[in-house]
Amino acid sequence: MAENVVVELVGESAALDASEAIFLVVAAGRGARAGAGGPKQYRELAGRQVLTRTLEALLAAAPGARALTAIHPDDLDLYEAAIAPLPAASRARLLPPVLGGATRQDSVCNGLEAIAALGAAANTPVLIHDAARPFVSAELIARALDAAREKGAAVPGLAVVDTIKKVAEDARIVATPERAALRAVQTPQAFRFDLILAAHRAVREDGCRELTDDAAVAEWAGHCVFVFPGEATNIKLTTAEDFMRAEAKLLNDLPDVRTGQGFDVHAFGEGDHVWLGGVQVPHDHGLVGHSDADVLLHAITDAVLGAIAEGDIGAHFPPSDPQWRGAPSDLFLRHAVKLVTARGGRVAHIDATLICERPKVGPHRDAIRARIAEIMELPLDRVAVKATTSERLGFTGRQEGIAALAMATVRLP
Ligand code: MG
Repeated sequence: MAENVVVELVGESAALDASEAIFLVVAAGRGARAGAGGPKQYRELAGRQVLTRTLEALLAAAPGARALTAIHPDDLDLYEAAIAPLPAASRARLLPPVLGGATRQDSVCNGLEAIAALGAAANTPVLIHDAARPFVSAELIARALDAAREKGAAVPGLAVVDTIKKVAEDARIVATPERAALRAVQTPQAFRFDLILAAHRAVREDGCRELTDDAAVAEWAGHCVFVFPGEATNIKLTTAEDFMRAEAKLLNDLPDVRTGQGFDVHAFGEGDHVWLGGVQVPHDHGLVGHSDADVLLHAITDAVLGAIAEGDIGAHFPPSDPQWRGAPSDLFLRHAVKLVTARGGRVAHIDATLICERPKVGPHRDAIRARIAEIMELPLDRVAVKATTSERLGFTGRQEGIAALAMATVRLP
C-alpha cells in the first residue's frame, strides 16, 4: 500500500528531546489464549494491571526515556485506567497512545510513524516491547539500549533448552535444527529509529504481512540483527496458567504478611430476603441495617481494614451519613481492597463464617464465594465461606439475627 498511512494519535501531541530513548509498547492485541476476561494486557495481576506494571518497569529503568503505547481502538478507557495509577512524573513521560492496526506488525508501524511525526532524531534508540512482559528488568533494558546504540538492530534471546523439531502438517518431523545455534527471542527489541522505521515502511509498501517480530522486519529489509542475552524471568503472559504462576510469584515478593479479623451482627426485621456475601438469599425475614445489612461483607471489610490497621467500616462509611442508606455493601469491601492495593499490597486469603439457624447457607455457598471473589478480584481458591448454627443457643440460636466472622490475610511490600 503506497498511499499515505494515516496514523491516529489520541490526545495532545508532545515534543521530543533529541537524544532520549523511546519505548514503543505494543498493547493492541486481544489476548484470546489467556482465556476469558478481556485483553490480557489490561488484566489485573496481583492488584495491578499488566500494562501498568510494564510501563512502570520501563520508565523506572530509563529515566530519560519516553513511552508510546499502541492500543486497540476499543481500549481507550482501559488504557486510561492502566496509566492512572502511575505517578504524575511517569505519566508526564507518556506520549499520546497511537491506535494499533490489524496485526502486531501494523501496530508497531503505526507507532513508529507517530514517533516520526513527533520529530524523533534518526539515531534515537527505540525499544519495542510487548505489553504482556511486565517482568522486564532494568538490567535487560540497559543491555537493550546499549545494543541499539552499538548495533543498530538487536534483540534479547535465550539459549534453547528443549530440542526443537520442525514438523509437517501431519505432525511428521521434517527437521531437527542444531540446538546450540537456536535462540528463543524476547522483547524489548532494540533498534536505531531510522533503521527500524525504514524497514517497517518497506515491509508495509511491499504488503508482506507474515513477520512475527520486529527483528524479522529488520532482517527482511536486509539488516544484520544481533542477539544479546535475554532473561528467563522476562516471560510473556500468554495463557491462564502464566497468569496464575505470575500471581504466585508476585505474592512471594510481598513479604510483610498481616492478618485482620472482623465481626458483625445484624438483627432480623421485616422482609423477604437477606444479603449474604453480595448474594440475595430468599428468607421470611430481612436484616435491619443502614446499608443493605450484608453482615458477611461487613465482617470481611472489617477484617481487611484490620489487617492494614485502617480503622473499621464505621469510620470509613459512617452510619450517620445518609449517602450510605441502602448502599450495596460491595462498595465498602472494594474500598478496603483498594486501600491495600494502593499500598502496593494484596489480599491473599479470606476465611469467613456465617452463624445462623436459618436461612440455610449451604445451597448458596458457592454463589457467595464466587461473588466475594469477584468483588475482591481474587481467585476462587483464596476465598473460604463456612456456616454454622449456634445449636439454638444465644441470639442467633433464637433466630433474632445473623452473625458473621472473617479473617483476612494481607501481604504488603
Ligand atoms: Mg454491619
